[in-house]
Amino acid sequence: MSETESQAAPFPAPPVLKAGAELAGQLCSICQTTVIAGESVVACPCCALPFHSECWDENRGCSAYGCKAAPPTIKPKQDAQPLSNAWGDEKPCPKCNKKIKAQALKCRFCGAVFGSRDVISKEEYASREYEGNEYAAARNKVMLLFFLSVAGCIAPLGVILVGILISHKELMGIDYRRLSPTLKALLWCAFGVGLSLILMMILLAAFDS
Ligand SMILES: [Zn+2]
Ligand SMILES: [Zn+2]
Ligand SMILES: [Zn+2]
Repeated sequence: MSETESQAAPFPAPPVLKAGAELAGQLCSICQTTVIAGESVVACPCCALPFHSECWDENRGCSAYGCKAAPPTIKPKQDAQPLSNAWGDEKPCPKCNKKIKAQALKCRFCGAVFGSRDVISKEEYASREYEGNEYAAARNKVMLLFFLSVAGCIAPLGVILVGILISHKELMGIDYRRLSPTLKALLWCAFGVGLSLILMMILLAAFDS
């Protein structure tokens, strides 16, 4: 399975609209806050539920269980159980710790995406694979490291950075443990290719002299 396949929403993105009077006041069921007139919104192509377009993108689809446009990570079982936790109808965001709606799939303060309505601990959140915008940001940094490592004369710099990230697990705001298997493989590939390049440059220099 390629990266683009695993990241693609099951449905093409619905057109982004500016919320008018008919949508204002309706609840976005991803972040559980009301839509304000003028905000960018989308309507689910299957069940017509309104969402902030940003929430739709981060959730990679509809948040209604069983909806054909919902991302595959949402399990119908969870919605059937009444949400009971010590926080009542609120829960702490595992990233910024601010109080958010218990049903929220995304924090409206820091933008953290959970992929499940359950309360998850900070540790659990920190150990989960990157998702949504965080995934995109981590992927871009991994790509940058990859290109640094295979880019001729600056390859040693890239290889050193990749080596630090793999051995120390954290660098440039990337947590190696949270990367998807594909991104981890890409880093190892960068490391291998970069090392071979450096070796070749050393050998070439040795032959020249
Ligand atoms: Zn929203
Ligand atoms: Zn839907
Ligand atoms: Zn948060």
